[in-house]
Amino acid sequence: MEGAPARGDLYLEGDRIAAVVPGDPAPPWAGRVEREIDAASYWILPGLIQTHLHLCQTLFRGVAEGRDLCRWLQEVIWPWEAALEPETIALAAEAGIRELLAGGTTTILDMGSTRHTEVILETAARLGIRGFFGPALMDRGPEPARPLLRPGEESLRELGELARRWEGAENGRIRLALCPRFVPSVSDGLWRELASSTEFAGLPIHTHGSETQEEVREVERLTGKTPPAYLAGLDGAQGRIKMAHGVWLSAEDRNHLHRAGTAVVHCPGSNLKLASGLADVRTLRREGITVGLGADGAACNNRLDAFSELRLAGYIQGLLHGPESVSAAEILRLVTLEGARVLGLEDQIGSLKAGKCADLVLLDPHLSDNPWAAGDGWESPEAFLVFAGGRELVRETWIAGRPVYRREANDLVDEAQDRNYRAARRRLAERAGYA
Ligand SMILES: [Zn+2]
Repeated sequence: MEGAPARGDLYLEGDRIAAVVPGDPAPPWAGRVEREIDAASYWILPGLIQTHLHLCQTLFRGVAEGRDLCRWLQEVIWPWEAALEPETIALAAEAGIRELLAGGTTTILDMGSTRHTEVILETAARLGIRGFFGPALMDRGPEPARPLLRPGEESLRELGELARRWEGAENGRIRLALCPRFVPSVSDGLWRELASSTEFAGLPIHTHGSETQEEVREVERLTGKTPPAYLAGLDGAQGRIKMAHGVWLSAEDRNHLHRAGTAVVHCPGSNLKLASGLADVRTLRREGITVGLGADGAACNNRLDAFSELRLAGYIQGLLHGPESVSAAEILRLVTLEGARVLGLEDQIGSLKAGKCADLVLLDPHLSDNPWAAGDGWESPEAFLVFAGGRELVRETWIAGRPVYRREANDLVDEAQDRNYRAARRRLAERAGYA
């Protein structure tokens, strides 16, 4: 059943998938069954994986419109991130995780702000999501970045404390990532220390690169190299770097990515919204580069919905290579097995297979506006999900064998939560000098 749609039964035991038994009806399983869920009218997908997000920006939705990356960062995002306090970052993480779970996303690679990462980790542990988290590292930058900057030594010390407390916590559900924000915001010395440190050798390195032409020029000015070339030259970083965007890449850049085992995370919604450009995912994949998908953040998208990203990824590939180049099944893999591969977790998540984590999304095609079409002989289930699907289809989301979202049981926010989020936004606006 791995990869291809099929009818059958799925058995869970503890936090794992115990067996996948195909058939219509499926033959009885030899094991003991304690509780049965009738999901005959549902589609079950492995939990969706988004490999580039900023939970800390969830309360910034809609406040940084109409700007390109550079103005977006300098005029709004950095001042608002600098205004975050433990209470507001906790609410941002909570709102973001609830939105993700309600949309079937079960695993994320998150980049925090430069402070209060502990709070994001506590919120993720409490709400049940799986993921890698870490503070954004910034030790250099222009004037608007100043309040966020921290000396490298201080960041490394904090990373050590966070790793000791959190790496592998909650039965391996919570992991740490090193998150140098992008080449211009991290000094060469800190980049090299991060990459070569034996203390952090097992942690992925999550960054942004080749997002806009302006950024590529800035990296060339600072280092004499393009972002992929610079990253490929870091000793100890081989196979560990997850680079969000990869929009502006030459053939030589792709060669560097391949050689260094750098994965790219495609963020089509963010790239279109900030008018950064169109990433050529098909060429990356054909050249053997691992590619995942992510919504980036609520401040540049403005949804955290894997289905929206899938659709946009399909459209962009069609535009670049012609509609015949687009396979919905291939696009869907960006948030399942390919996403797992980006994180090095392909033996744990990303498909429905005995022994893997019981991370599932139960989709109900009848919640669609056009359920009559869903997956009949004329339309494949994958095409339906990628081009007609949305988070409105999600009935339940399960992580590690536990339901973490049920449509009827938890609406996105209750009124009290809603008030908290609004109050937090007002406070951030005031602190950032916007109100
Ligand atoms: Zn980002």
